[in-house]
Amino acid sequence: MSTAWAGGTDAIVERMDKMTELFVAEARKTIYNGVSATHCEECGEPIPEARRKAIPCQYCLSCQTKLEKQR
Ligand SMILES: [Zn+2]
Repeated sequence: MSTAWAGGTDAIVERMDKMTELFVAEARKTIYNGVSATHCEECGEPIPEARRKAIPCQYCLSCQTKLEKQR
């Protein structure tokens, strides 16, 4: 049984939360500039350049499709 995570899990989760916050803030900034996000806001996957150039978008194709089906 590994003890590598003992006591460290909270710190790691906290750090990941901060990274997500920064990532989201950066993504929002990009959208406000009228440019497509480089990464999907939903899953964080990189959005292909061709798609970003075609239309301003915040989501990758699969998430976009999923979100549109929910409407
Ligand atoms: Zn996605």
